[in-house]
Amino acid sequence: MKIKVLGAFGSEGLGQRPSAFLVNDRILVDAGTVPGALTVDEQLEVEHALLSHPHLDHVVGLAFLTDTLASAGARRPVTATSVEPVIQGLRTHAFNNVLWPDFSAIPSPSAPVLRFRTLAEEAEQRVGDLWVTPVPVDHTVPTVGFIIHDGEVGFIYSGDTGPTDRLWRAARGLRGLRALVIECAFPNRLEGLAATSRHLTPSLIQRELDKIPPDLPIWIFHIKPQFYQETVEQLARIDSPRIQVLEQGKTYTL
Ligand SMILES: [Zn+2]
Ligand SMILES: [Zn+2]
Repeated sequence: MKIKVLGAFGSEGLGQRPSAFLVNDRILVDAGTVPGALTVDEQLEVEHALLSHPHLDHVVGLAFLTDTLASAGARRPVTATSVEPVIQGLRTHAFNNVLWPDFSAIPSPSAPVLRFRTLAEEAEQRVGDLWVTPVPVDHTVPTVGFIIHDGEVGFIYSGDTGPTDRLWRAARGLRGLRALVIECAFPNRLEGLAATSRHLTPSLIQRELDKIPPDLPIWIFHIKPQFYQETVEQLARIDSPRIQVLEQGKTYTL
């Protein structure tokens, strides 16, 4: 399984793009950046967008992707996929003909460039050629992480979350898991802000380690651009060879 890091950050900075991953060229996992990291031909290959929650740093690239698909005469739609409150949030607050056009009716309601699909919580469902289980995590709005696998290998994607439990419980004992992709938004001195905004810091991640399946490599993303250096240094001080900060633009293979 191929995972390309389109955007590795929890906001936008100079050359630092909001969070998005592309799995096997076809399935987005969050969509904070899409056209900013892919050619038009690559965008036309995207079939599904798994979305953890509707915050802009995870979905704004989907808005611009649908714009590309409509203007490039795409042959097939992209399907925005998540649990019900996330899909409802996107329909009500983003693709509502106010903030952005309703691309689920463009160019026509019968053949739009955007479709929506609702997944059941904590049930394994087929998305493209992968198996996906959405599991609620702990953020300021309804948010899910995903357990994603292809039948042989897979990974856990935590999206935005503070300290959490259900996702780790759901992953316990699963075979073939090769990595945990997890957020870290703020440095330790902003733990108060992390608590209010339901995010993680290096020391909160250290406390999560005991709950996370042992030996699983931990791939960090979603550091806020303005705190990047400080946060990376604190992560490096956690005495665990499991921890690695993901590099934007790089493709990781499981
Ligand atoms: Zn975020
Ligand atoms: Zn968020």
